[in-house]
Amino acid sequence: MVNEKILLLIGAFIFGSIIGSFLNVLIYRLPRGLTPFKPTFSFCPNCRTQIKYYDNIPIISYLFLKGKCRNCKSPISLRYPIVEALTGFASILAYLKAGLSIDYVFTFLFLALMITLSFIDFDFKIIPDEINFFGFILGLIYTFFRDDYSLFDGIIGAGIGGGFLFTIAYFYEKFKGIEGLGMGDVKLMIFIGSYIGWFGALFTIFLGSILGTIIALAGALASNIEDKGKYEIPFGPYLAIAGSIYLLIGDKIRAFYFGG
Ligand SMILES: [Zn+2]
Repeated sequence: MVNEKILLLIGAFIFGSIIGSFLNVLIYRLPRGLTPFKPTFSFCPNCRTQIKYYDNIPIISYLFLKGKCRNCKSPISLRYPIVEALTGFASILAYLKAGLSIDYVFTFLFLALMITLSFIDFDFKIIPDEINFFGFILGLIYTFFRDDYSLFDGIIGAGIGGGFLFTIAYFYEKFKGIEGLGMGDVKLMIFIGSYIGWFGALFTIFLGSILGTIIALAGALASNIEDKGKYEIPFGPYLAIAGSIYLLIGDKIRAFYFGG
């Protein structure tokens, strides 16, 4: 007898990796100003050949083609299967948290958007407004389906998340004379705050800063001394990781913090 629970986990992974393959399209097209839904097929970024459906199976096709385009043999970035696998795992985590429920849908959408914006931020140092705005609206709609957050909590979370990071950015710029944080990060905190409330938003900024500082120090140590001033890291991915952790295990974090 095959365990039903394991089958559901495999199903969650496969579903997630299929969505991940669409996220790859968004990650490529959104920052380049291309429309995400046209053309509906994927194409090789090098030779522009349409990718056949049987070459577009998440993860498996990459392994089968040994990471090369079938037509022009140019290497396909390892990022594509990584995003697909990551989204598959995100789907599993959302399922483990929420089971098959409306909570799963909103949790998985949050994680999928975090993956998308993280990769875009890494490449282009921007977070598209479309993602932050869509996520913020999603977070507010989600409050109507949950009993741990009201619409009011969502709005307060968005306000405190965005407002707190904006204040830090304002003073940082005033005292150092350089722009340290982008408005994209502030808008991202509005999105994240709408999903996880004011305490979750503050936790996210706190943990995100720690993660970002550790990686920045490691990066500065690893790079040349002359490059140190130029070494810049996007903050978005660290906020995304911290926010995702809170969305998944926030109740445990709250219990630990407030001793509940
Ligand atoms: Zn090609």
